[in-house]
Amino acid sequence: MAAPIRVRFAPSPTGHLHVGGARTALFNWLLARHHRGTFILRIEDTDRSRSTDDNIVAIVDALRWLGLDWDEGSPTPGYRQTERLAIYREHAERLLRSGRAYYCDCPPELLDRERAAAQQRGETFRYSGRCRDRGLPAGALRLRIPTTGATVVNDLIHGPVTFEHTQLDDWILVRTDGTPTYNFCVVVDDVTMGITHVVRGDDHLSNTPKQILCYEALDYAVPEFAHVSMILGKDRSRLSKRHGATSVQAFRDAGYVADAMVNYLARLGWSHGDQEVFSRAELVELFDIKDVASSGAVFDVTKLEWLSQHYLKTMDGRRLAELVEPFVRAAGLTPPPDLARFVGMLDTLRERAKTLVEMVEQGRFYFEAPSAYDAKAAPKLLTAEGARRLGLVIERLEGLGEFTTAAIERAVRALIDELGLKLVDLAQLARLAVTGRTASPPIFDVLALLGPVESLARLRRAREFAERAA
Ligand code: GLU
Repeated sequence: MAAPIRVRFAPSPTGHLHVGGARTALFNWLLARHHRGTFILRIEDTDRSRSTDDNIVAIVDALRWLGLDWDEGSPTPGYRQTERLAIYREHAERLLRSGRAYYCDCPPELLDRERAAAQQRGETFRYSGRCRDRGLPAGALRLRIPTTGATVVNDLIHGPVTFEHTQLDDWILVRTDGTPTYNFCVVVDDVTMGITHVVRGDDHLSNTPKQILCYEALDYAVPEFAHVSMILGKDRSRLSKRHGATSVQAFRDAGYVADAMVNYLARLGWSHGDQEVFSRAELVELFDIKDVASSGAVFDVTKLEWLSQHYLKTMDGRRLAELVEPFVRAAGLTPPPDLARFVGMLDTLRERAKTLVEMVEQGRFYFEAPSAYDAKAAPKLLTAEGARRLGLVIERLEGLGEFTTAAIERAVRALIDELGLKLVDLAQLARLAVTGRTASPPIFDVLALLGPVESLARLRRAREFAERAA
């Protein structure tokens, strides 16, 4: 049997979690969960000038929100690159001792001149190998790579990709100041953490042959690689801030539900027939890295909204209440203390809202009385006749034994018949009085959910307003 799968998500904490990074994390997580393997979180913070602890907190928060739990990794010590310098040093020494690496003391000005000359010839700069056989005792440590032949990356998504060694050079493992380079750290981390599959963005594909040569120099088995395509904007250029929100946090704050986000990210580049909606369990069961497309996937907010709406519509009511509550509070409002009533309110809103933020906006009237009435409708409805009709509605509702949707509807319909009106005449009036708006969920539901005390208070207030206005 093959060794258990070990995969990692290795963000550089130089910013928040981008949707592209989140999808890479998701694919790693799915691969691990599908095979009952191990998912590791490693923080690649060797670029100290751009890495911050706040970014680590933000990334960890975003992963937790998405529900991508990890089995090993940060904040447990030993999973941040800055904590692993001794391990890199040990590996550098091994490579030096075995002759697979050598010191180079070429001054930066010389390398700069060579780089400029290469650029002028329209070539990529490659180190000349001048110090290869000088046996220097100090300097920058370079990997000695074969001068002929090629390295093939057998990518699980892209298939074999060949890199001629003449296109590569003896790259630097450790700088003159003793700091290890990014590619070197990644290799040492992946081998020492026992990573079996490296799943990452295909912006790293060109690093992979360099890394493979380093594995070989260290005499380590090379893991499997899968390079996931970039996420693109509508114009098919790489998704960036220019295209709108790109951080996971921004989507969370805009009120998308995590399950919708996960479903959406999974479908960005991965497919299973033409199915669009997947539960987490289905994703885990069906995910196969080989089904990930090699071409770039376009980020389409409309589709995310569609999925989000689907999840809002179908999720368990109590769970929905839990998710909406912080958004209600963030809007400066308070949900009703009675959970069943709160869930009932959300039930009337969940059909229409695309996000939790929209849901709160559309249902604002449940949590606070209207501070104004729709400016177009008020002069038409809140008139002397409106006041009279509201008075009658109030009277009927005051006399109700039970304040249920059905009882309210019966009472109002009876009144309509007596007055020779149409339902819309009273329904619109009551709606404006109670919600301040001309559109809302079914008015009898709204009245029942607000309860007799609040409904009657609002109807009376509107009647007074209408009397004053008349
Ligand atoms: N730290 C790299 C990044 O954030 C990931 C490198 C890797 O997965 O090997 O792009």
